[in-house]
Amino acid sequence: EIAEVTGVQTCALPIWRGEATPYLALAKTLESIEATSGRLRTIEILSNYLRSVMVQTPSDLLPSIYMTLNRLAPAWEGIELGIGEGLLMKAIAASTGRSVAQIKADSGKLGDLGLVAEQSRGGQRTMFQPAHLTLAHVFSKLGEIAALTGHSSGTKKVEKIQALLVAARGPEARYLIRSLAGKLRIGLAEQSVLQALAQAVVQTPVGQAYPPPLHTVHKSAESDKFKEELAKESLKLKTSYCECPTYDIMIPALLEGGIAGVSLKCRLTPGIPLKPMLAHPTKGVQEVLTRFENCRFTCEWKYDGERAQIHLHEDGSVNIFSRNQEDNTTKFPDIIARLKKCLGGKVKSAVLDCEAVAWDREKKSIQPFQILSTRKRKDAVEEEIKVQVCVFAFDLLYLNGESLVTKSFEDRRGLLREHFTVVEGEFQFAQSMDGNTIEEIQEALEESIRDNCEGLMVKTLDVDATYEIARRSHNWLKLKKDYLEGVGDTLDLVVLGGYLGRGKRAGKYGGFLLACYEPDNEEYQSICKIGTGFTDEDLATHAAFFKDHVTDKPKAYFSFDPSHVPDHWFEPVQVWEVKC
Ligand code: ATP
Repeated sequence: EIAEVTGVQTCALPIWRGEATPYLALAKTLESIEATSGRLRTIEILSNYLRSVMVQTPSDLLPSIYMTLNRLAPAWEGIELGIGEGLLMKAIAASTGRSVAQIKADSGKLGDLGLVAEQSRGGQRTMFQPAHLTLAHVFSKLGEIAALTGHSSGTKKVEKIQALLVAARGPEARYLIRSLAGKLRIGLAEQSVLQALAQAVVQTPVGQAYPPPLHTVHKSAESDKFKEELAKESLKLKTSYCECPTYDIMIPALLEGGIAGVSLKCRLTPGIPLKPMLAHPTKGVQEVLTRFENCRFTCEWKYDGERAQIHLHEDGSVNIFSRNQEDNTTKFPDIIARLKKCLGGKVKSAVLDCEAVAWDREKKSIQPFQILSTRKRKDAVEEEIKVQVCVFAFDLLYLNGESLVTKSFEDRRGLLREHFTVVEGEFQFAQSMDGNTIEEIQEALEESIRDNCEGLMVKTLDVDATYEIARRSHNWLKLKKDYLEGVGDTLDLVVLGGYLGRGKRAGKYGGFLLACYEPDNEEYQSICKIGTGFTDEDLATHAAFFKDHVTDKPKAYFSFDPSHVPDHWFEPVQVWEVKC
């Protein structure tokens, strides 16, 4: 009957109209996504679940999206899950009557505490069955658990988790534990979730009578018509999301007015950080010229600091956001206090894209990133700040009530220079060079490095020069100084395991297996072994550190070549920057 009403065949559990969505419906959906390979298929499974929720209990759509992404709120609210394994093990033990030692042993074997929780529950009978978990209830409990801090918060967390676990059925315990640990590991990235949302409303438009006469607009998901419409609509949805990345606004707008409603309501707004434009690495000046053939471009100095998206509101208040949309406002009271001096007379509101760089006031020069990173992260007091920063502004995305993201970089840069004033050592424009020959670029690269920068950011001025992340998120090219020295880039790699050392290295590790993170599948893929470049002291430090992080088995989300299995597997707890 449900299938008939909603046209949804694959939602694993019926969701009844107007009734709270069972958490089991989501857990089973996640389970089948996890068991399915192929991005299109997993998107379809999720979109079918979302269609059911939209038609039957629309108020559960927002928590469904948050829980599929394993988030509780937009990044800038700073509310995150990530409960330590110790507490989770305690809660699993308490809810299943098993010992922590047993749980730990199983976790070593299975490599996934979620599975341990699910299997531990399987063997237990309860005197009476607690009420079934609903999605909304679990979501609100996750929020409560994340919010607990301070004295005895650990015990309170364990109690709350235990209450959820006791009521968990089937795969619910697995996803509960993984949610709490901060990683769902179903291999679904945010872009796929947005795609599934778009697919849901393309197939079952919002705003219909009940039961919806149009429950499956495109009978064949293979048809060109469907693919075309989906591509168009999902681009619109993703564009809105990039400008206004918060589901708190998007989901209500979507339920009310579909994707057109989202386009109207999710606009770039001071106070809500937009997704930043990123850069594509290049292997040298020649590659820049090849990629940007026939377009005008500029080479900007690539400052090595921290991205700062500065939002000026009409009432004069200011917010500063990080590259990942975290709220850094209280980290930079100095930037905020000095901003007024840099505003031209006509500026009422603005969003600036900048790099905040450590600055030596005496030498009037840029300092390395390492110095910047010693600044207090939160609630800094202006008078106590020791590391001074200079802001290098490189883009203007919003001015006096108008979004500039669809304008060309040349126009945005023109407006930036027109409406803001340089104050040396406090607020400057990113230095740039508009020349286009190999020699000019090479010279700019060398000069940028003499100025303590990382290299150049190369940006087109008029062709493909908008700030529309959903179309192209890596519209700029980066040219780093590493290429000058004839070596490659550095890689950020996670240590998966160690090979026991021999001879001089006996008792320590002689080598390590390293991996890179693959966000689409949410897994660590082994990439190389490393055994050189360590001093004896390094090796001793690593051996002492990893001793406490050895596991019996590789984590389920490690992907590696069986011929490279290390002697000891580690928890993924350290990232090394490796030069190659
Ligand atoms: P990596 O990928 O090397 O770890 P990253 O993730 O910070 O570095 P990159 O793609 O290397 O990002 O470079 C983009 C970053 O460079 C931006 O996020 C910004 O913080 C910084 N940046 C410095 N100068 C500029 C500039 N002139 N224009 C744009 N971004 C700049």
